[in-house]
Amino acid sequence: MTESFDEECDYLFKAVLIGDSAVGKSNLLSRFAKNEFCLESKPTIGVEFAYRNIRVGDKLIKAQIWDTAGQERFRAITSSYYRGALGALLVYDITRKSTFESLKKWLKEVREFGSRELVVVLVGNKSDLAQYREVNLEDGRSLAQLEDLSFMETSAKENLNVEEAFLQMITRIYQLSCHKSM
Ligand code: GDP
Repeated sequence: MTESFDEECDYLFKAVLIGDSAVGKSNLLSRFAKNEFCLESKPTIGVEFAYRNIRVGDKLIKAQIWDTAGQERFRAITSSYYRGALGALLVYDITRKSTFESLKKWLKEVREFGSRELVVVLVGNKSDLAQYREVNLEDGRSLAQLEDLSFMETSAKENLNVEEAFLQMITRIYQLSCHKSM
């Protein structure tokens, strides 16, 4: 499924990570990008991004995933972060209800700044900490249904469902872009 970084790709997609501070965005990204990544820092705009090449069917897709690099703490995420993004992982922490309650605010922002076709996958991270759970699996699922999003619980720590969450987003972006070009 994964390819080396240098290979020629058929598509290049930008996707963004969003959600409150410390929900695990950076760790999800480094899990996903593993060793096949190029993490670049853009201190001037305060974001970082990583690339990963993914094969979907016979196409090679280069996914460029942007991380907020802590800017969300200062509510400094601007429209440029979302510009050109075709997908977003909207992350909360299952052990902190406040991060789930913030999702409304994040969804409002996504609708304001994101493109109309933005593919959003809702991610409840830290599923390894089930004993501290404050958000039920069912609550995540219901919100996703209500907002028409895909949904998954993940653990960046235990590497559970991380690949699946990113792949679901990337595959959906690819399907939509094929559909559009037909
Ligand atoms: P960000 O601010 O959203 O980018 O969050 P980070 O990726 O920096 O993670 C915040 C904290 O949560 C760090 O201490 C991580 O080690 C921890 N963390 C992230 N993901 C997980 C996870 O899946 N399980 C557990 N137990 N801790 C996690």
